[in-house]
Amino acid sequence: MAEGSGPYDIVVLGGGSGGYACALRAAELGKTVVLIEKDKIGGTCLHRGCIPTKTFLHAAEVADETREAESVGVRATFEGIDIAGVHGFRDKIVNRAWKGVQGLLKSRGVTVVEGTGRLVGANRVAVGDDVYEGRAVVLATGSAPRSLPGLDIDGDRVITSEHALVLDRVPSSVIVLGGGVIGVEFASVWRSFGSEVTVVEALPHLLPLEEESSSKALERAFRRRGIKQELGTRFESVKTTDTGVVVTLEGGKTLEAELLLVAVGRGSVSAGLGYEEAGVTVDRGSVVVDEYCRTNVPGVYAVGDLIPTLQLAHAGFAEGILVAEHIAGLGPAPIDYDGVPRITYSDPEVASVGITSVTARERGFDTVEMTYDLAGNPKSQILQTQGSVKIIAQKDGPVLGVHMVGRRIGELVTEGQLIYNWEALPAEVAQLIHAHPTQSEAVGEAMLALAGKPLHVHN
Ligand SMILES: Cc1cc2nc3c(=O)[nH]c(=O)nc-3n(C[C@H](O)[C@H](O)[C@H](O)COP(=O)(O)OP(=O)(O)OC[C@H]3O[C@@H](n4cnc5c(N)ncnc54)[C@H](O)[C@@H]3O)c2cc1C
Repeated sequence: MAEGSGPYDIVVLGGGSGGYACALRAAELGKTVVLIEKDKIGGTCLHRGCIPTKTFLHAAEVADETREAESVGVRATFEGIDIAGVHGFRDKIVNRAWKGVQGLLKSRGVTVVEGTGRLVGANRVAVGDDVYEGRAVVLATGSAPRSLPGLDIDGDRVITSEHALVLDRVPSSVIVLGGGVIGVEFASVWRSFGSEVTVVEALPHLLPLEEESSSKALERAFRRRGIKQELGTRFESVKTTDTGVVVTLEGGKTLEAELLLVAVGRGSVSAGLGYEEAGVTVDRGSVVVDEYCRTNVPGVYAVGDLIPTLQLAHAGFAEGILVAEHIAGLGPAPIDYDGVPRITYSDPEVASVGITSVTARERGFDTVEMTYDLAGNPKSQILQTQGSVKIIAQKDGPVLGVHMVGRRIGELVTEGQLIYNWEALPAEVAQLIHAHPTQSEAVGEAMLALAGKPLHVHN
């Protein structure tokens, strides 16, 4: 080994959500840890994902509230978006969190190495000429934007979310290719910022993994907001011009805009990092793991977007913690991925936990359902949002899924996750008193109805 220190208990490759959470928990458990990061600690989520997009979405909400101020009796004039100001807001939030996580790693005694790492054996990672040896190695190199065959991303007219987050202007018009979470969130932001937006999605609905009724509610809300949608339509090609892009869809229809955002998913970062040479099984770019995030090579683990589980920061945190505790011999329980909450932070928000009605049917459950319309929820009316809370429960059994749409509804998923993960019965939740007036009352009302004692429900 060129570099002195080691062997460590754990070598973590990649300092994003999955990697740094593993490092922090392992250090807390008394392990010696080296964390190797080639760019910035915090990874995609902190610098190019969750946090910057949510600062944009907050600015978008403020813009819309300013436009709508008169409807609640407040005189205000919306003059426009100062994109440099939005970027400044983003940087302030990101930098504070970035400092915070670096401070945490330092205070817990994690050794952070700046550089590009490569797996050079089952228990060794090389950074240049230095080799770090660990009793365990955790691969956490994350993911990067994907494209489609023949679709070149030039970073100018045809861009990814990474370019969109540093764009120096509000585009006059955008075509968003992909109606998943990232595409929907950018469509929402840009529309609020004043752009003309069209979303193209090959599958029949936006957010195709959500309960169909949630997707349809979002589509209706987007239509009301003037966000155009080409659903169940495949992209065929794009031509760039001096002023923008011309996108051709399957069937020959063409769309023109200033920009094309490609949001067709993210692929794991595993190529050229020595994984397969070290014997680690990789399937279509993702590292294959068992329920404890162990790869097929003893002592080598993988977490986060690198593995084919939910591509969410909090799933990555949980996997990092699981691995640290597994290595420390604490015997942690595997993650129930159905119990991981999902939120799309568009306007309106879409949130869910548990399973959809389609999955419930596929798994052979006999179910009952209740949808509570936010029209009956005063707090939602004050917030001027439409939407609903839909509960799917096993007949005479626990809640299987909670699916919600509405402005600010994402915060309610916390209650949904307690209900789902504790396998609560609707009648048990109906016993709990929800504060009035809150949006959470919509959850309570749905449970009251399922328990056979509806309160504010029109028959
Ligand atoms: C636009 C956008 C919005 C998102 N919004 C949300 C959201 O609201 N909520 C949510 O839960 N999730 C969100 N996500 C997803 C979330 O960002 C990811 O799930 C999460 O970042 C995955 O963490 P990770 O640690 O697996 O990978 P990453 O965060 O990608 O981290 C991997 C790290 O490894 C480093 N690395 C890679 N190769 C090497 C190497 N060879 N040597 C050293 N270092 C290396 C990278 O530099 C990077 O820092 C969003 C993603 C995007 C793109």
